[in-house]
Amino acid sequence: MLFVSLFLFLMGLVWGSFLNVVIYRMSHGTSFAKGRSICPKCKRQLTWAMNIPLLSYLFLKGRCAYCHKKISIQYPIIEALTGIFFVWWFVVGFNFFKLVGNPWSFIQPVFWLSVGLVMLAILVIDLLYMIIPFGLNLTLFSLALAYRVALTGFGIMTLTDFIRALLSGAGVCLLLVSLQVATKKIKKVDGFGLGDIYLVPSLGLLLGWPKILPGMFLAFVLGSIVGVVLLMLKKKKLTQYLPFGPFLILGTAISLLWGSAIWAWYLSFLV
Ligand SMILES: [Zn+2]
Repeated sequence: MLFVSLFLFLMGLVWGSFLNVVIYRMSHGTSFAKGRSICPKCKRQLTWAMNIPLLSYLFLKGRCAYCHKKISIQYPIIEALTGIFFVWWFVVGFNFFKLVGNPWSFIQPVFWLSVGLVMLAILVIDLLYMIIPFGLNLTLFSLALAYRVALTGFGIMTLTDFIRALLSGAGVCLLLVSLQVATKKIKKVDGFGLGDIYLVPSLGLLLGWPKILPGMFLAFVLGSIVGVVLLMLKKKKLTQYLPFGPFLILGTAISLLWGSAIWAWYLSFLV
């Protein structure tokens, strides 16, 4: 278990470093298929030894080997986060994935690992650049839709649940659009980016009904808390845009794990 976890952490570091490349090139509008990594400051090509996830950053003490300018802390953080995500995926999913027979015992872990990576990329890009690339939203939606259609086709998910999941996403989408229209009328600013609105149908498909409710509730609560704290610290003005994607992703992640329990706990107050 420990050996596997260590191996997965290292795998995660490598994927994290790939994710860094994707994030950098997506936000700079270049295709991420070509070319080797360069220092963003002096544009010189990095050797493989300067490109080792996490370790290179530590050995170079966070500076470029050529120009000695600071390397963004974003790189080692994303690498470490992806490493932790891989281990977490294994520990949390280990028993869960064993519940299903072939071929799902293979498809499910791969699906949730891919979905997790795309969600991590969306979270970081939205946090750093306040955009959600359409390509990532489309990837997430295609993955979620294919997965749910397959589950329904094989009778693992009922058609009713599938339709509920679709409607959940559409419902939140409608909610965000109406809030968007309202804030634009009242405050003359954009409440949500188009990226957030494109993101929620996927989240609806992933969460389904009723887990969408605690998921979105958590997103709004977390977003409000962080927003108010930033206002009080005077880091943001009321008219400034706070990326909502990271909160949607966090709310979804929490609800995927504990949504049913949260929902049952909430219902216990009603009866
Ligand atoms: Zn440099």
